[in-house]
Amino acid sequence: MSNLLESYAEVTGNAIVDQLRQLATPLRGMKVVHVNSTRVGGGVAEILDKLVPLMCELGIDTSWEIITGESDFYQCTKSFHNGLQGHRIAIPEHLLRAYEETNVRTAEQLRPVLEEADVVFIHDPQPAPLLDLCPDRKGTWIWRCHIDVSHPDRHIWRYLRHFLTNYDASVFSLAGFAQALPHPEYLIPPSIDPLSAKNMELSQDEIEAVQKHFGLDPQRPMILQVSRFDRFKDPLGVIQAFRLAREFTPGLQLVLAGGTASDDPEGEAVYREAENAANHDADIHLLLLPPDAHRTINALQRSADIVLQKSLREGFGLTVTEAMWKGRPVIGGDTGGIRLQVINYHTGFLVNTPEGAALRIRYLLQRPGRATQMGEKARQFVRENFLLTRQLREYLTMILAVRNGGTDRIDLS
Ligand code: UDP
Repeated sequence: MSNLLESYAEVTGNAIVDQLRQLATPLRGMKVVHVNSTRVGGGVAEILDKLVPLMCELGIDTSWEIITGESDFYQCTKSFHNGLQGHRIAIPEHLLRAYEETNVRTAEQLRPVLEEADVVFIHDPQPAPLLDLCPDRKGTWIWRCHIDVSHPDRHIWRYLRHFLTNYDASVFSLAGFAQALPHPEYLIPPSIDPLSAKNMELSQDEIEAVQKHFGLDPQRPMILQVSRFDRFKDPLGVIQAFRLAREFTPGLQLVLAGGTASDDPEGEAVYREAENAANHDADIHLLLLPPDAHRTINALQRSADIVLQKSLREGFGLTVTEAMWKGRPVIGGDTGGIRLQVINYHTGFLVNTPEGAALRIRYLLQRPGRATQMGEKARQFVRENFLLTRQLREYLTMILAVRNGGTDRIDLS
Protein backbone atom coordinates (compact mmCIF):
# COMPACT_ATOMS: atom_id res chain seq x y z
CA MET A 1 0.00 0.00 0.00
CA SER A 2 1.30 3.51 -0.75
CA ASN A 3 2.35 5.85 2.04
CA LEU A 4 -0.57 8.19 1.43
CA LEU A 5 -3.13 5.37 1.58
CA GLU A 6 -1.44 3.95 4.65
CA SER A 7 -1.77 7.31 6.38
CA TYR A 8 -5.51 7.37 5.65
CA ALA A 9 -5.82 3.83 6.96
CA GLU A 10 -4.39 5.04 10.27
CA VAL A 11 -7.22 7.58 10.62
CA THR A 12 -10.16 5.75 9.07
CA GLY A 13 -9.22 2.09 9.50
CA ASN A 14 -7.99 -0.44 6.93
CA ALA A 15 -11.43 -1.56 5.79
CA ILE A 16 -12.28 1.83 4.27
CA VAL A 17 -9.01 2.04 2.36
CA ASP A 18 -9.38 -1.57 1.13
CA GLN A 19 -12.84 -0.69 -0.13
CA LEU A 20 -11.43 2.30 -2.05
CA ARG A 21 -8.82 0.12 -3.70
CA GLN A 22 -11.46 -2.41 -4.67
CA LEU A 23 -13.71 0.24 -6.19
CA ALA A 24 -10.76 1.81 -8.01
CA THR A 25 -9.58 -1.44 -9.59
CA PRO A 26 -11.94 -1.35 -12.58
CA LEU A 27 -11.13 2.35 -13.07
CA ARG A 28 -7.31 1.99 -13.08
CA GLY A 29 -5.64 3.80 -15.94
CA MET A 30 -8.75 5.83 -16.76
CA LYS A 31 -8.30 9.53 -17.43
CA VAL A 32 -10.39 11.71 -15.12
CA VAL A 33 -10.36 15.50 -15.38
CA HIS A 34 -11.80 17.96 -12.86
CA VAL A 35 -12.52 21.54 -13.99
CA ASN A 36 -13.34 24.44 -11.68
CA SER A 37 -12.58 28.16 -11.58
CA THR A 38 -9.82 28.59 -8.98
CA ARG A 39 -6.95 26.66 -7.46
CA VAL A 40 -7.08 28.56 -4.16
CA GLY A 41 -9.82 30.05 -2.04
CA GLY A 42 -13.16 28.50 -1.26
CA GLY A 43 -14.32 24.99 -0.62
CA VAL A 44 -14.09 23.50 -4.11
CA ALA A 45 -10.37 24.22 -4.44
CA GLU A 46 -9.85 22.95 -0.92
CA ILE A 47 -11.43 19.60 -1.81
CA LEU A 48 -9.79 19.16 -5.23
CA ASP A 49 -6.39 19.88 -3.79
CA LYS A 50 -6.69 16.68 -1.77
CA LEU A 51 -9.02 14.56 -3.89
CA VAL A 52 -6.93 14.68 -7.07
CA PRO A 53 -3.71 13.24 -5.53
CA LEU A 54 -5.70 10.57 -3.74
CA MET A 55 -7.38 9.47 -6.99
CA CYS A 56 -3.93 9.35 -8.65
CA GLU A 57 -2.66 7.27 -5.75
CA LEU A 58 -5.39 4.75 -6.51
CA GLY A 59 -4.13 4.39 -10.07
CA ILE A 60 -6.70 6.67 -11.72
CA ASP A 61 -4.99 9.15 -14.07
CA THR A 62 -6.55 12.32 -12.60
CA SER A 63 -5.83 15.93 -13.51
CA TRP A 64 -7.22 19.31 -12.50
CA GLU A 65 -7.84 22.16 -14.96
CA ILE A 66 -9.23 25.61 -14.29
CA ILE A 67 -11.21 28.17 -16.27
CA THR A 68 -9.99 31.74 -15.84
CA GLY A 69 -11.31 34.95 -17.33
CA GLU A 70 -11.38 38.73 -17.11
CA SER A 71 -13.36 40.74 -14.58
CA ASP A 72 -16.62 40.58 -16.62
CA PHE A 73 -16.47 36.79 -16.44
CA TYR A 74 -16.11 36.80 -12.64
CA GLN A 75 -18.81 39.43 -12.22
CA CYS A 76 -21.12 37.25 -14.25
CA THR A 77 -20.29 34.04 -12.38
CA LYS A 78 -20.57 35.79 -9.00
CA SER A 79 -24.03 36.97 -10.09
CA PHE A 80 -24.89 33.37 -11.01
CA HIS A 81 -23.74 32.37 -7.54
CA ASN A 82 -25.86 35.05 -5.86
CA GLY A 83 -28.84 34.35 -8.15
CA LEU A 84 -28.69 30.58 -7.69
CA GLN A 85 -28.59 31.08 -3.92
CA GLY A 86 -31.83 33.03 -4.09
CA HIS A 87 -31.17 36.69 -4.87
CA ARG A 88 -33.24 38.20 -7.65
CA ILE A 89 -30.71 39.47 -10.16
CA ALA A 90 -30.81 40.61 -13.77
CA ILE A 91 -27.48 39.91 -15.42
CA PRO A 92 -26.63 42.34 -18.25
CA GLU A 93 -26.24 40.81 -21.68
CA HIS A 94 -22.57 41.83 -22.03
CA LEU A 95 -21.65 39.84 -18.90
CA LEU A 96 -23.39 36.74 -20.25
CA ARG A 97 -21.43 37.17 -23.50
CA ALA A 98 -18.19 37.39 -21.49
CA TYR A 99 -19.17 34.15 -19.73
CA GLU A 100 -19.83 32.33 -22.99
CA GLU A 101 -16.74 33.72 -24.73
CA THR A 102 -14.50 32.73 -21.81
CA ASN A 103 -15.85 29.20 -22.09
CA VAL A 104 -15.21 29.20 -25.85
CA ARG A 105 -11.59 30.29 -25.25
CA THR A 106 -11.12 27.72 -22.50
CA ALA A 107 -12.55 24.99 -24.72
CA GLU A 108 -10.00 25.87 -27.40
CA GLN A 109 -7.20 25.26 -24.90
CA LEU A 110 -8.62 22.24 -23.10
CA ARG A 111 -10.47 20.43 -25.91
CA PRO A 112 -7.80 17.74 -26.51
CA VAL A 113 -7.70 16.86 -22.80
CA LEU A 114 -11.45 17.03 -22.26
CA GLU A 115 -12.49 15.15 -25.38
CA GLU A 116 -10.05 12.34 -24.62
CA ALA A 117 -10.97 11.99 -20.93
CA ASP A 118 -12.95 8.99 -19.74
CA VAL A 119 -14.66 11.03 -17.02
CA VAL A 120 -14.97 14.82 -16.70
CA PHE A 121 -16.18 16.52 -13.52
CA ILE A 122 -17.34 20.07 -14.16
CA HIS A 123 -17.64 21.95 -10.86
CA ASP A 124 -20.30 24.64 -10.49
CA PRO A 125 -21.62 26.96 -13.20
CA GLN A 126 -18.38 28.65 -14.30
CA PRO A 127 -17.21 25.93 -16.75
CA ALA A 128 -20.68 24.42 -17.42
CA PRO A 129 -20.83 25.32 -21.17
CA LEU A 130 -17.63 23.35 -21.90
CA LEU A 131 -19.55 20.15 -22.58
CA ASP A 132 -21.39 21.55 -25.60
CA LEU A 133 -18.08 22.98 -26.84
CA CYS A 134 -16.45 19.53 -26.91
CA PRO A 135 -18.56 17.81 -29.59
CA ASP A 136 -16.20 14.84 -29.96
CA ARG A 137 -16.13 13.95 -26.29
CA LYS A 138 -15.81 10.27 -25.63
CA GLY A 139 -16.21 10.17 -21.87
CA THR A 140 -18.83 10.53 -19.18
CA TRP A 141 -19.48 14.12 -18.07
CA ILE A 142 -20.75 14.92 -14.60
CA TRP A 143 -21.87 18.34 -13.36
CA ARG A 144 -20.96 18.76 -9.70
CA CYS A 145 -22.93 21.56 -8.05
CA HIS A 146 -21.52 22.79 -4.74
CA ILE A 147 -23.92 25.65 -4.09
CA ASP A 148 -27.33 25.95 -2.53
CA VAL A 149 -29.66 25.94 -5.54
CA SER A 150 -32.79 25.15 -3.55
CA HIS A 151 -34.50 28.44 -4.50
CA PRO A 152 -32.70 29.78 -7.56
CA ASP A 153 -33.62 32.90 -9.46
CA ARG A 154 -35.72 31.28 -12.17
CA HIS A 155 -34.27 33.28 -15.09
CA ILE A 156 -30.73 32.44 -14.16
CA TRP A 157 -31.52 28.78 -13.59
CA ARG A 158 -33.29 28.55 -16.97
CA TYR A 159 -30.29 30.13 -18.71
CA LEU A 160 -27.82 27.75 -17.01
CA ARG A 161 -29.99 24.65 -17.30
CA HIS A 162 -29.67 24.85 -21.02
CA PHE A 163 -25.90 24.14 -20.65
CA LEU A 164 -26.57 21.22 -18.30
CA THR A 165 -29.06 19.10 -20.18
CA ASN A 166 -26.47 17.04 -22.10
CA TYR A 167 -24.53 15.97 -19.02
CA ASP A 168 -24.66 12.27 -18.12
CA ALA A 169 -25.28 12.95 -14.43
CA SER A 170 -25.21 15.68 -11.85
CA VAL A 171 -24.26 15.72 -8.19
CA PHE A 172 -25.71 17.88 -5.41
CA SER A 173 -24.68 18.07 -1.78
CA LEU A 174 -28.17 17.47 -0.39
CA ALA A 175 -31.61 16.46 -1.56
CA GLY A 176 -33.10 19.92 -1.05
CA PHE A 177 -30.77 21.32 -3.74
CA ALA A 178 -31.63 18.86 -6.53
CA GLN A 179 -33.33 20.40 -9.54
CA ALA A 180 -35.24 18.75 -12.38
CA LEU A 181 -32.65 17.70 -14.96
CA PRO A 182 -32.95 15.07 -17.71
CA HIS A 183 -30.29 12.71 -16.31
CA PRO A 184 -29.56 10.81 -13.07
CA GLU A 185 -28.83 12.98 -10.05
CA TYR A 186 -26.66 11.86 -7.14
CA LEU A 187 -26.39 13.22 -3.60
CA ILE A 188 -22.81 13.38 -2.33
CA PRO A 189 -21.87 15.76 0.48
CA PRO A 190 -18.35 17.21 0.49
CA SER A 191 -15.64 16.27 2.95
CA ILE A 192 -12.41 17.33 4.62
CA ASP A 193 -8.96 15.81 4.51
CA PRO A 194 -7.92 14.84 8.06
CA LEU A 195 -4.24 14.73 7.04
CA SER A 196 -4.05 18.20 5.50
CA ALA A 197 -2.29 21.18 7.07
CA LYS A 198 -5.77 22.59 7.75
CA ASN A 199 -6.90 19.62 9.81
CA MET A 200 -3.88 17.76 11.20
CA GLU A 201 -3.02 17.81 14.90
CA LEU A 202 -0.87 20.79 15.96
CA SER A 203 1.43 21.22 18.92
CA GLN A 204 0.28 23.46 21.76
CA ASP A 205 3.37 25.62 21.11
CA GLU A 206 2.28 26.30 17.54
CA ILE A 207 -1.27 27.15 18.63
CA GLU A 208 0.03 29.56 21.27
CA ALA A 209 2.40 31.18 18.77
CA VAL A 210 -0.54 31.93 16.46
CA GLN A 211 -2.57 33.37 19.35
CA LYS A 212 0.35 35.59 20.30
CA HIS A 213 0.96 36.66 16.70
CA PHE A 214 -2.61 37.97 16.40
CA GLY A 215 -2.73 39.51 19.88
CA LEU A 216 -5.30 37.05 21.25
CA ASP A 217 -5.47 36.54 24.99
CA PRO A 218 -5.62 32.78 25.72
CA GLN A 219 -7.00 33.51 29.22
CA ARG A 220 -10.17 35.06 27.77
CA PRO A 221 -12.93 33.29 25.81
CA MET A 222 -12.73 33.51 22.02
CA ILE A 223 -15.28 32.85 19.30
CA LEU A 224 -14.33 32.47 15.65
CA GLN A 225 -15.79 32.51 12.16
CA VAL A 226 -13.59 31.54 9.21
CA SER A 227 -15.04 32.54 5.84
CA ARG A 228 -14.42 34.31 2.60
CA PHE A 229 -15.73 37.87 2.98
CA ASP A 230 -19.07 37.18 1.34
CA ARG A 231 -22.49 38.53 2.35
CA PHE A 232 -24.00 35.03 2.43
CA LYS A 233 -21.57 34.28 5.28
CA ASP A 234 -23.14 37.16 7.25
CA PRO A 235 -20.04 38.73 8.85
CA LEU A 236 -22.15 41.68 10.05
CA GLY A 237 -24.55 39.31 11.79
CA VAL A 238 -21.57 37.68 13.50
CA ILE A 239 -20.34 41.04 14.79
CA GLN A 240 -23.82 41.85 16.06
CA ALA A 241 -24.08 38.46 17.82
CA PHE A 242 -20.66 39.02 19.38
CA ARG A 243 -21.68 42.43 20.75
CA LEU A 244 -24.86 41.01 22.28
CA ALA A 245 -23.01 38.05 23.81
CA ARG A 246 -20.26 40.27 25.23
CA GLU A 247 -22.80 42.04 27.42
CA PHE A 248 -23.00 38.80 29.42
CA THR A 249 -19.41 37.67 28.92
CA PRO A 250 -17.01 40.53 29.54
CA GLY A 251 -13.64 39.92 27.94
CA LEU A 252 -15.08 37.92 25.04
CA GLN A 253 -12.96 38.10 21.87
CA LEU A 254 -14.12 37.63 18.27
CA VAL A 255 -11.95 36.54 15.37
CA LEU A 256 -13.34 36.90 11.87
CA ALA A 257 -10.73 35.28 9.67
CA GLY A 258 -11.02 35.25 5.94
CA GLY A 259 -9.54 35.99 2.63
CA THR A 260 -10.79 36.62 -0.84
CA ALA A 261 -10.91 34.05 -3.61
CA SER A 262 -9.52 34.91 -7.05
CA ASP A 263 -12.93 34.15 -8.61
CA ASP A 264 -14.84 36.38 -6.13
CA PRO A 265 -14.96 40.08 -7.09
CA GLU A 266 -17.03 41.17 -4.04
CA GLY A 267 -14.60 40.18 -1.27
CA GLU A 268 -12.95 43.55 -0.75
CA ALA A 269 -16.22 45.45 -0.45
CA VAL A 270 -17.57 42.97 2.09
CA TYR A 271 -14.34 43.16 4.08
CA ARG A 272 -14.72 46.95 4.26
CA GLU A 273 -18.33 46.57 5.47
CA ALA A 274 -17.08 44.30 8.26
CA GLU A 275 -14.30 46.76 9.09
CA ASN A 276 -16.85 49.58 9.41
CA ALA A 277 -19.10 47.46 11.60
CA ALA A 278 -16.14 46.49 13.84
CA ASN A 279 -15.39 50.20 14.23
CA HIS A 280 -11.90 49.76 15.73
CA ASP A 281 -13.21 47.57 18.56
CA ALA A 282 -10.01 46.11 20.09
CA ASP A 283 -11.69 42.77 20.78
CA ILE A 284 -12.84 42.22 17.21
CA HIS A 285 -9.96 40.79 15.22
CA LEU A 286 -10.57 40.99 11.48
CA LEU A 287 -7.89 38.89 9.84
CA LEU A 288 -7.29 39.05 6.11
CA LEU A 289 -5.27 35.88 5.54
CA PRO A 290 -3.35 34.71 2.48
CA PRO A 291 -4.87 31.73 0.66
CA ASP A 292 -2.26 29.29 1.97
CA ALA A 293 -2.74 30.11 5.67
CA HIS A 294 -3.95 26.59 6.38
CA ARG A 295 -1.96 25.96 9.57
CA THR A 296 -2.94 29.41 10.88
CA ILE A 297 -6.63 28.64 10.35
CA ASN A 298 -6.13 25.24 11.94
CA ALA A 299 -4.56 26.90 15.02
CA LEU A 300 -7.33 29.51 15.22
CA GLN A 301 -10.00 26.81 15.05
CA ARG A 302 -8.22 24.93 17.84
CA SER A 303 -7.96 28.15 19.90
CA ALA A 304 -11.67 28.96 19.72
CA ASP A 305 -14.12 28.06 22.47
CA ILE A 306 -16.94 28.10 19.93
CA VAL A 307 -16.91 28.30 16.14
CA LEU A 308 -19.63 30.20 14.32
CA GLN A 309 -20.78 29.80 10.75
CA LYS A 310 -23.72 32.12 10.70
CA SER A 311 -24.35 31.79 6.96
CA LEU A 312 -27.62 32.89 5.42
CA ARG A 313 -27.14 30.38 2.58
CA GLU A 314 -24.53 27.65 2.50
CA GLY A 315 -23.84 24.92 -0.04
CA PHE A 316 -22.10 22.82 2.58
CA GLY A 317 -19.73 24.77 4.81
CA LEU A 318 -16.36 23.03 5.02
CA THR A 319 -15.46 25.45 7.79
CA VAL A 320 -18.15 23.76 9.90
CA THR A 321 -16.68 20.32 9.24
CA GLU A 322 -13.17 21.59 10.01
CA ALA A 323 -14.24 23.02 13.36
CA MET A 324 -16.22 19.91 14.30
CA TRP A 325 -13.22 17.72 13.47
CA LYS A 326 -11.27 19.75 16.03
CA GLY A 327 -13.88 19.01 18.66
CA ARG A 328 -15.46 22.44 18.63
CA PRO A 329 -19.22 22.95 18.99
CA VAL A 330 -20.52 24.98 16.05
CA ILE A 331 -23.25 27.59 16.07
CA GLY A 332 -24.39 27.61 12.48
CA GLY A 333 -27.00 29.34 10.34
CA ASP A 334 -30.04 27.11 9.93
CA THR A 335 -29.53 26.66 6.21
CA GLY A 336 -28.29 24.36 3.45
CA GLY A 337 -25.39 22.04 4.18
CA ILE A 338 -24.95 23.35 7.72
CA ARG A 339 -28.11 21.42 8.62
CA LEU A 340 -26.43 18.20 7.53
CA GLN A 341 -23.63 18.76 10.01
CA VAL A 342 -24.93 20.72 12.96
CA ILE A 343 -27.42 18.48 14.68
CA ASN A 344 -29.24 20.90 16.94
CA TYR A 345 -28.41 20.35 20.63
CA HIS A 346 -26.00 17.50 19.77
CA THR A 347 -23.08 18.72 17.64
CA GLY A 348 -23.92 22.40 18.03
CA PHE A 349 -26.80 24.81 17.56
CA LEU A 350 -28.71 26.04 14.51
CA VAL A 351 -29.70 29.70 14.61
CA ASN A 352 -31.63 32.15 12.47
CA THR A 353 -30.72 35.53 13.95
CA PRO A 354 -27.81 37.33 15.64
CA GLU A 355 -29.89 37.28 18.84
CA GLY A 356 -30.25 33.50 18.58
CA ALA A 357 -26.52 33.15 18.01
CA ALA A 358 -25.77 35.37 21.04
CA LEU A 359 -28.05 33.28 23.23
CA ARG A 360 -26.27 30.07 22.22
CA ILE A 361 -22.83 31.64 22.68
CA ARG A 362 -23.79 32.59 26.21
CA TYR A 363 -25.25 29.13 26.88
CA LEU A 364 -22.08 27.31 25.78
CA LEU A 365 -19.64 29.68 27.47
CA GLN A 366 -21.48 29.22 30.76
CA ARG A 367 -21.42 25.41 30.42
CA PRO A 368 -17.93 24.34 29.38
CA GLY A 369 -18.71 20.68 30.16
CA ARG A 370 -21.62 20.71 27.73
CA ALA A 371 -19.50 22.44 25.09
CA THR A 372 -16.82 19.75 25.40
CA GLN A 373 -19.44 17.00 25.13
CA MET A 374 -20.93 18.56 21.99
CA GLY A 375 -17.45 18.96 20.51
CA GLU A 376 -16.69 15.28 21.08
CA LYS A 377 -19.93 14.28 19.36
CA ALA A 378 -19.10 16.67 16.53
CA ARG A 379 -15.72 15.04 15.92
CA GLN A 380 -17.24 11.58 15.92
CA PHE A 381 -19.95 12.71 13.49
CA VAL A 382 -17.31 14.01 11.08
CA ARG A 383 -15.27 10.81 11.40
CA GLU A 384 -18.33 8.79 10.41
CA ASN A 385 -19.67 11.02 7.66
CA PHE A 386 -17.48 13.77 6.30
CA LEU A 387 -13.94 12.53 5.69
CA LEU A 388 -12.40 12.52 2.23
CA THR A 389 -12.36 8.73 2.03
CA ARG A 390 -16.17 8.62 2.23
CA GLN A 391 -16.56 11.24 -0.52
CA LEU A 392 -14.10 9.44 -2.78
CA ARG A 393 -15.87 6.13 -2.21
CA GLU A 394 -19.12 7.74 -3.34
CA TYR A 395 -17.50 9.36 -6.39
CA LEU A 396 -15.97 6.04 -7.46
CA THR A 397 -19.26 4.23 -6.97
CA MET A 398 -21.04 6.90 -8.97
CA ILE A 399 -18.55 6.72 -11.84
CA LEU A 400 -19.02 2.95 -11.98
CA ALA A 401 -22.80 3.33 -11.85
CA VAL A 402 -22.98 6.00 -14.56
CA ARG A 403 -20.59 4.11 -16.83
CA ASN A 404 -22.63 0.94 -16.26
CA GLY A 405 -25.60 2.68 -17.75
CA GLY A 406 -27.35 3.11 -14.42
CA THR A 407 -28.02 -0.61 -13.88
CA ASP A 408 -28.46 -1.47 -10.23
CA ARG A 409 -25.64 -4.04 -10.06
CA ILE A 410 -21.96 -3.11 -10.29
CA ASP A 411 -19.59 -5.99 -10.99
CA LEU A 412 -16.20 -5.30 -9.39
CA SER A 413 -14.55 -8.61 -10.35
N1 UDP B 1 -10.69 29.23 3.81
C1 UDP B 1 -9.35 29.56 3.83
N2 UDP B 1 -9.00 30.86 4.02
C2 UDP B 1 -9.93 31.82 4.19
C3 UDP B 1 -11.29 31.50 4.18
C4 UDP B 1 -11.65 30.19 3.99
O1 UDP B 1 -8.48 28.69 3.68
O2 UDP B 1 -9.53 32.97 4.36
C5 UDP B 1 -11.05 27.83 3.60
C6 UDP B 1 -11.85 27.24 4.74
O3 UDP B 1 -10.99 26.78 5.76
C7 UDP B 1 -12.60 26.13 4.01
C8 UDP B 1 -12.85 26.74 2.63
O4 UDP B 1 -11.87 27.76 2.46
O5 UDP B 1 -11.78 24.99 3.86
C9 UDP B 1 -14.23 27.36 2.53
O6 UDP B 1 -15.15 26.38 2.28
P1 UDP B 1 -16.68 26.52 2.66
O7 UDP B 1 -17.37 25.32 2.13
O8 UDP B 1 -16.80 26.77 4.13
O9 UDP B 1 -17.17 27.87 1.94
P2 UDP B 1 -17.05 28.43 0.42
O10 UDP B 1 -15.94 29.43 0.48
O11 UDP B 1 -16.77 27.29 -0.49
O12 UDP B 1 -18.36 29.09 0.20
